[in-house]
Amino acid sequence: MTTSNPTDSRILYIDDNPINRSLVKRLLANYGFEIFEAGTGLEGIALAQENPPHLILMDINMPGLDGHETTTRMRSISDLKDTPIIAVTARTTEGERELALAAGCDGYIPKPIDVDTFPQQIIAYLEGHRDKLNRDEFQKHFDRYSQKLVERLESKLIELQEVNIRLRKIDKMKSDFITLAAHELRTPLAVAYGYADVLQDVTQNEGQTPETFEQVQDLSRRIYESTHRLTEVVNDILNASLINANEMQVVEQPVSLFEVVTSALAELGPFQDERQLDITIDDMDALPFIFGDAKKLQQTFWNLLSNAIKFTPDGGSINVSGTEINPDDDPRFNKKGVLISVKDSGVGISPSDTEAIFEQFYVVGNTTYHRSSKTAYQGGGIGLGLPIAKGVVKAHQGKIWVESAGRNDTECLGSTFHVYLPLNEGLT
Ligand code: ADP
Repeated sequence: MTTSNPTDSRILYIDDNPINRSLVKRLLANYGFEIFEAGTGLEGIALAQENPPHLILMDINMPGLDGHETTTRMRSISDLKDTPIIAVTARTTEGERELALAAGCDGYIPKPIDVDTFPQQIIAYLEGHRDKLNRDEFQKHFDRYSQKLVERLESKLIELQEVNIRLRKIDKMKSDFITLAAHELRTPLAVAYGYADVLQDVTQNEGQTPETFEQVQDLSRRIYESTHRLTEVVNDILNASLINANEMQVVEQPVSLFEVVTSALAELGPFQDERQLDITIDDMDALPFIFGDAKKLQQTFWNLLSNAIKFTPDGGSINVSGTEINPDDDPRFNKKGVLISVKDSGVGISPSDTEAIFEQFYVVGNTTYHRSSKTAYQGGGIGLGLPIAKGVVKAHQGKIWVESAGRNDTECLGSTFHVYLPLNEGLT
């Protein structure tokens, strides 16, 4: 496809760098060329097929299909097989020109382009000039190019396999989540349903005696507790969706972390007699207040304490301590803050799980034997406690992480969860 006047030609410029594209576009438009642009090889192929250009300028280093591969693909499209394709590239080491020609390019212009000679070079290619390799040279570089293509294909396949494994893991996590969520919702629902049934019988069949009144009170308390648990599960699911959408809002007010931790433990209820755990909270009254959301932080420590209780066998110990952080003394942090550590003598966490447990729906081990509880030994949840804790801490510009020597259900190597919260002074 030619025009009588080369400067009337339509040129497609493919480059992932928008600054390069606008520079070349402006330069060539001054000479009258019509330029259209693409930011990727695939986009370039689609545009060129839709509206075949008179010449194509091809960047080589691009993510996705690179310039060589895009050129090779274009050569197999009948409308483009004779279109001059000129490599415009910063790859200027020895052999790069030959590689571009072996891939199907008709010319090679190194970057940075020379603005004085560039338009003339384009006109020469439009008038039929072609850079050529002799047969031996072509064969040598074509072999090199084929090898490079196979290597790229191999690394892409490996990448795809890895993505596939990750996707399958996420898929499994989601289906486990559905099973666990159904279980978590069904247990308190069945309890509430059962008690409501008994309540109906009691109020229908018994007279208005003081015993009936006590029975009614007891049953309605149990129904209240079950529906309260249902609300907690639903709230966890809703909170998790806020983390995904990055929409967690924190109310900022002065907060005593000592009070927050103490209230979180109190909220876990009277489980001590059943579990015989030695739970201590160090005196943290001297710690500075932080600016944050007391309710959300209480939920965070509730989650950490509930986990520590669940994963520590009877007779074990849990300790909560706090220290003030000054970045001058501790280079791990860049702002003044408070570090709260929840240490347990429980089953511990294996190194391969220490990051993953903060991901949504991640539950260590087999979910088939899931047993819903917030305090029973090895009781289960829906795998949202830690991701929510992480979301809350992140919303406070803090950090949460765990240290553990590994998981061992008999030796119990223990875990320590650390929460760093900056003071956020003045963020009222
Ligand atoms: P859930 O809400 O189901 O308890 P979490 O997100 O709170 O889920 O925790 C995810 C997993 O991390 C748990 O299933 C458990 O295997 C592991 N885990 C959390 N805390 C501890 C701990 N203190 N000791 C041992 N394992 C823990």
